[in-house]
Amino acid sequence: MSPRLRHLTTLENLPRDTIERLLDRAEALRDACAHGTRKLSVLAGRTVLNLFFEPSTRTRTSFELAARRLGADVVNFDIGFSSTSKGEELFDTLHTLEAMHLDAIIVRHKQSGTPDELVGHAMSGVSVINAGDGNRAHPTQGLLDVLTIRQHRPDFENLIVVICGDIKHSRVARSDIHALTALGTKEIRVCGPSTLMPSAEEFPKVHYVENFDEAIRGADAVITLRLQKERMAAIDLPDEAAYFSHYGLDQRRLALAAKGCLVMHPGPINRGIEIASDVADGAQSRILEQVGNGVFVRMAVLNELLAR
Ligand code: ASP
Repeated sequence: MSPRLRHLTTLENLPRDTIERLLDRAEALRDACAHGTRKLSVLAGRTVLNLFFEPSTRTRTSFELAARRLGADVVNFDIGFSSTSKGEELFDTLHTLEAMHLDAIIVRHKQSGTPDELVGHAMSGVSVINAGDGNRAHPTQGLLDVLTIRQHRPDFENLIVVICGDIKHSRVARSDIHALTALGTKEIRVCGPSTLMPSAEEFPKVHYVENFDEAIRGADAVITLRLQKERMAAIDLPDEAAYFSHYGLDQRRLALAAKGCLVMHPGPINRGIEIASDVADGAQSRILEQVGNGVFVRMAVLNELLAR
């Protein structure tokens, strides 16, 4: 069995059994807290800090609920759009907050690599959880996405999963690819305009398909992504109407996928840009299940890192 994690900054190179342990734990905690209606005391007396340098709705709320459902105290420290990005100011902030005796820091930052820098500077005993850094990783999103898929289709070795949209700027896509690869997914296809694709060397085993009609054919799950304009150079910016006609998930395209194909999106959704409203709200949509699973996955991660 792989060792217990101290920090979670990426899913890259995490062994399959660690990922499966976290997914199993998420389901066990979901049942133990009766879907959130019963509070547990596993982390009573522990303090968790949400340190968000970028805005967030789902992730921050979900971490807060997860920590509270496990009985921990939660402090929110929102820096929003502050110009603080790196260097001494960040570490000063860290040490100031640590002096208040924390057990875990959940960090979101626009700069890729910040959570690992915090691991390097954090006092021993403080766990760091990455809630999204630049375009690099969003490990709890990757875990909740594979948990959502597994609840419908546990046979990863038979699955074709398509990730469509702005892959280049997406930390979600990267963490999804790491998790899907670790679980032995038969085929991962990424699709989008060539300007929004990562380099082919980054994921040698992933299939790059520029045409969405081709990419979605026979797919068992399709994950659509937002255009992450905040991380784009002006030159990358596609025209939204043209983008929808080439890369929008609508009913016609969904009909090309395998029967019962799971429709997923990490949010926030831009209806009519990357996904049609009737697909986002349709019978195959798993988008709200993803949100619900987010809380249980984050409980599992906090439990792994902090439970005594
Ligand atoms: N919420 C996800 C993230 O933080 C996806 C997105 O923002 O488009 O990366």
